[in-house]
Amino acid sequence: MNSILQHDLNDFENILEKAKQQGINFLNNLNNVPTSNKNTIDLVNNLNEFGLGSIEALKEFNERLAPLMVSSPGPRYLGFVTGGSTPASIVGDWLASVYDQNTQAVKAQGGVSALIEFETINLLLQLLELPDSFLGGFVTGATMSNFTSLGVARQWFGKQLGKDFAKNGISETINILTATPHSSSIKCLSMLGIGSQNYTTVKTIEGNREAIDLHDLEENIQKLSSKPFILISSAGTVNTADFDDFDAISKLRDKYNFWWHIDAAFGGFAAVSEKFKHLVEGWEGADSITIDCHKWLNVPYESAFYLIKKEHGNLQIETFQNSNAPYLGNPLENFNYLNVLPENSRRLRALPAWFALRAYGKEGFKDIVENSTSLALHFGNALIATESFELLAPIRLNNVCFTLKGSHNQEKVGEFLNIVNDKGKVFMTPTVYKGRKGIRASFVNWRTNEEDIKIIMEELKTSILDLEI
Ligand SMILES: *Cc1c(COP(=O)(O)O)cnc(C)c1O
Repeated sequence: MNSILQHDLNDFENILEKAKQQGINFLNNLNNVPTSNKNTIDLVNNLNEFGLGSIEALKEFNERLAPLMVSSPGPRYLGFVTGGSTPASIVGDWLASVYDQNTQAVKAQGGVSALIEFETINLLLQLLELPDSFLGGFVTGATMSNFTSLGVARQWFGKQLGKDFAKNGISETINILTATPHSSSIKCLSMLGIGSQNYTTVKTIEGNREAIDLHDLEENIQKLSSKPFILISSAGTVNTADFDDFDAISKLRDKYNFWWHIDAAFGGFAAVSEKFKHLVEGWEGADSITIDCHKWLNVPYESAFYLIKKEHGNLQIETFQNSNAPYLGNPLENFNYLNVLPENSRRLRALPAWFALRAYGKEGFKDIVENSTSLALHFGNALIATESFELLAPIRLNNVCFTLKGSHNQEKVGEFLNIVNDKGKVFMTPTVYKGRKGIRASFVNWRTNEEDIKIIMEELKTSILDLEI
């Protein structure tokens, strides 16, 4: 063995102890870590001939890189839809690396990692009150979950026309209807060879809504004259957290032949609260659902899962099969993840979610969701109590979409947001909503509290003054 490796092997305990202590220091100090950082690094490193050893590499990391890390797992990072990481989820994440299992076959000799993944999916189905007619698996994010789901939808579409797209390539235009898709779904259409322009945009409901207009949907369906299609619907749009009407879409299934996909990356967690579960009523009728764990489940990146109806298992295998003769049958018998999703070798990606679910239970996640949503409302109220801001849309769940008051201020929105973000106390992202420039604040982090709202409002008020100078 290389002598540096040998040294590290002998020094394992000390090395991990230092990494642990560093993690504790960072997480305990999270409130003081800036939410943004303009400093950058010079890419000076040439590959060293001889190793530094873990301790020296850690020192270098601490000197050059660690000071530039931003508090994206912290309570005032409201950009995109960014969750944090709970203690239990960090344990799961660390241990997934320590145990370093390759999570593929259920019946692998001496491995239960795929079964742990099954168990985790099972716990998640219970958390979200979904039936066990879905088979699920973990992927890196909602983008890959959309990819997996729409990949199977693509195969389904071909089969409706007697074609096997997975084997022979796409030979027909695939009909896709959607109203307010997330950008990642459009990226998936490109990756899947369907074409990022090859979809029909259905109108949204009149007024301040992003949800699909069912009347226009039906008109568009009728234009297809009984041809099959794929519907990409939304459980939580990123600007205003709007939801399509899933009960109504379910009823359309009696009349029309379509694959129904729901992107519920964060909005799916509405299901854990009595107050919000009506938003996802009827979603169990979908063929496939996308859910992110690194958002509202507050586990570290990269964690998301797809749910695809078991009845489509063969289509899923046709799309992703790796070995010669995969057989679905009873999924607990001969199942291998490498035949049903994009990756072959996979880490024990379910473990952070498994730990989080066991550690905090249904009540824990209900509390996180209800805390986030009440803080979003509180923030919205604080915004409109000032003379400087207006909401661009009602607050339906956890996302606040707002802007500087008055259309004459539209050109200042970008500059204002830069001022706010540069100060490093809060981070939010820009958006355009119904033709108006705005700012999004998304509440999903388990640590955020009332005190943070006070700090954020202070930052916004002083930034308004800076803008006027
Ligand atoms: C965040 C998000 C995505 C993309 O998720 P990643 O985890 O970044 O891949 C897709 N859809 C919706 C609705 C989202 O909020």
